Amino acid sequence: MIETKTANRQSMYDTVMNQFHKTADIINLNPNIKKILGITNNEIIVHFPVKMDNGKVAVFTGYRVQHNNALGPYKGGLRYHPTVDVDAAKALAMWMTWKTSLAGLPYGGAKGGIQIDPRNYSDAELERITRRFTYALGENIGPEHDIPAPDVNTNTQTMAWIADTYMSTISTSERSQNQHVVTGKPVGSGGLEGRDRATGFGVFLTIKELVKSRGENLKGKTFIVQGFGNVGYWASKFLTEEGALLVSVQDAHATLYNAEGISVEDLFEHSSPRKGSIQGFTGAREIDPKHFFGLKCDILIPAALGNQITEENAYQIKAGIVAEGANGPTNPEGEKILLENGITIIPDILCNSGGVIGSYFEWLQNRNGELWELEEVMQKLEKKILQVFKKVQTEVAERETDWRTAAYIIAISRIETAYRQRGIFP
Ligand code: NAD
Repeated sequence: MIETKTANRQSMYDTVMNQFHKTADIINLNPNIKKILGITNNEIIVHFPVKMDNGKVAVFTGYRVQHNNALGPYKGGLRYHPTVDVDAAKALAMWMTWKTSLAGLPYGGAKGGIQIDPRNYSDAELERITRRFTYALGENIGPEHDIPAPDVNTNTQTMAWIADTYMSTISTSERSQNQHVVTGKPVGSGGLEGRDRATGFGVFLTIKELVKSRGENLKGKTFIVQGFGNVGYWASKFLTEEGALLVSVQDAHATLYNAEGISVEDLFEHSSPRKGSIQGFTGAREIDPKHFFGLKCDILIPAALGNQITEENAYQIKAGIVAEGANGPTNPEGEKILLENGITIIPDILCNSGGVIGSYFEWLQNRNGELWELEEVMQKLEKKILQVFKKVQTEVAERETDWRTAAYIIAISRIETAYRQRGIFP
């Protein structure tokens, strides 16, 4: 099991600021725009009471940080995890701004959540916590203002509760038109076919394209995954379908290894009823978690929490590609070591952007009263992700730089252009 404290909250914020300042210097970002983008527009903290199953009342604290909306409504996930606080939400909100900008979407960036471990609550309690949180956020979220989505430990069910609560507490005449207050809903409640796999698909596709650009393919390539939730599972599924071999998986409870390959479907079936835990799976042997990053493989996919690859373990990494499924999994010191060792990092704002692109499709579908079929969604997703990938690939070649720097240059330059065109009110 990985220590939760390694997902250091303060340093996630340090990481994003370090990346921002580095890019600002490279592109010589206008100093006024640098001031604006260096802060978060709104930091909302709400405290709300919830009746527990035992009849007692507990008070929870929820966060929503809205970083920037120069390009459109705020957009970003809600996370239920003990590491959620205002600094973590600020860092994650900034990453969302860069991600939506890089993908060319009409969105800004936000993030939030509640500092809880959901495993400590019953489903009924989680429903009441989610509904009261939504109510406490009130008009701070909205389909044309700030649109949450699932993230760590939240899912389609969480989004359905939020949508229902939001729609039940606004005026009757507006109710039916506000389903797109959240994305990542169940398909039966306005969700998009394929949104479940969109992030993992993007992780897979960006790896596939990178490998292809080197004149190789995925057949026989070995990979290891940290986190076997939504992102880790779907990325693994797509990769193994193309002939890659999953040799190790680590989650919050265990680290598994099998040199012959781990069956993704068997592991998924094992973990689903156990609230996602991979522990006890018989198709692989459990190993000491500290050996995970040093395992021999071609591709490493961090798909759990932030700040996992640091100066303490980056030198152990043998993979040639690190594909950041998670947000902010690599800190600047860890990144420096990876780059010095010739490892290519597919940065989070590109690698996991399939999720927000899928969310954008869901938002459009709801807004226009349409229903898109899975095949259509996957085609559109592939086209869009490949466009973004190629944009970054071209920038990498032209600037002779690494992939994160290239992605940041594109993302921040787009926002700078918007500010230059519009000016600052009043
Ligand atoms: P999830 O809740 O479905 O899964 C999280 C996984 O991480 C679980 O397997 C859990 O056991 C593991 N984990 C948690 N704490 C851990 C620890 N301390 N050590 C090792 N593993 C740990 O979450 P998800 O939606 O798959 O999100 C994973 C990452 O991907 C997050 O960083 C999230 O921000 C990012 N992301 C998710 C989406 C999305 O659409 N879900 C989109 C973009 C980025």
